[in-house]
Amino acid sequence: MFEKLNNRPADSLLALIKAFQADERNGKIDLGVGVYRDAMGRTPVMRAVKAAEQFLLDTQDSKKYLGPEGDLQFVRLLQPIIFGKSPKFDHRLVGIQTPGGSGALRIGAELIQTANPSAKVLLGTPSWPNHAPIFASARLAVKDYAFVDLTSQQVKFESVVDALSSSAEGDVVLLHGCCHNPTGIDFTMEQWLEITELLVAHKLVPLIDLAYQGLGDGLEQDAAPTRMILDAVDEALIAYSCDKNFGLYRERVGALYVMTRNVDDIGKAESNMAALARVNWSMPPDHGAAIVRTILESPEMSAMWRAELEEMCERVNGNRAAIAAAAADLAFISRQRGLFSNLSMSKETAAALRAKHGIYMADSGRMNLAGMQPADAGAIVTALRAEGC
Ligand code: PMP
Repeated sequence: MFEKLNNRPADSLLALIKAFQADERNGKIDLGVGVYRDAMGRTPVMRAVKAAEQFLLDTQDSKKYLGPEGDLQFVRLLQPIIFGKSPKFDHRLVGIQTPGGSGALRIGAELIQTANPSAKVLLGTPSWPNHAPIFASARLAVKDYAFVDLTSQQVKFESVVDALSSSAEGDVVLLHGCCHNPTGIDFTMEQWLEITELLVAHKLVPLIDLAYQGLGDGLEQDAAPTRMILDAVDEALIAYSCDKNFGLYRERVGALYVMTRNVDDIGKAESNMAALARVNWSMPPDHGAAIVRTILESPEMSAMWRAELEEMCERVNGNRAAIAAAAADLAFISRQRGLFSNLSMSKETAAALRAKHGIYMADSGRMNLAGMQPADAGAIVTALRAEGC
């Protein structure tokens, strides 16, 4: 049986991690894999996470099953952070815990496939490389459109407007709620407003991927586009990840929320999400969501988490400012948000940056701004110049 399989290409970012580790040069800089790093280059366990883990160790008295929807108190406590306090959301929103944002996207895709198999998913490119395969594996048709021009680092807004305007009622629009991966280019609030109007006018369903809330301009600001859209549309899906903003990566913590047109549809959405979770993973892993719940249940731990998240956000934006200060023509990096920027370069140039300068970034030209220190800005700019970027 297995001889019929074709080999799949290895994950290039994982190869990059190995190559970086094997590089013995001092001064090498890792802008590759998409995790936050602190001023010591570490990806730390956040202080509030440590406190919550200690609390759980001391007090958790059972690990019995919770069910396919996971920890519903976790799901509820995240709600005001994501959606604010609008009463509308109390009656038309339902959520389940999922293994990471990836699990939320998977269940979201299957829910769309179950409800409306002919819906197309509109996906602006470039995007997170896992988006298109997740939708395809749920047997949904993906319609690509160009989202940015990497040479000018500008949103191709006419292309966005064309894609949305030419879609059929019920088609789904994947939107990065904040901190676009891989480009760091978010829509302006004026553009978000126009997108919201198009969603409403063409009866399109937004699927908002919110994987970096708090790492752009702060928790509230990063949620503003999501809240504006939900205020205006009838139905929406929100795939949320706590893996970046709680630093929980391999614990796999996320949630899928669905906003229905009316209260009557809530039960249908809820029972379908639970049934889909059941056939995918039966029940989500508990520990990470229990940590987040514990933090959000405690005012002290919540304050600790918020303060450290702000520090992380400031550090990334400080690195962005350091590059902009070192090279005026890279000033766009300081206007972008989240962990990433995507420079326009060939994979040969990315390879030369690694081989000649010890600067590691994805072959696509995506760089993780959290991987550097402000003092590295000069070396990064010098290397980019030497390679003609
Ligand atoms: N969406 C985007 C845009 C992402 O960048 C990521 C993670 N890289 C995810 C979703 C998935 O997050 P998780 O690790 O929680 O599955």
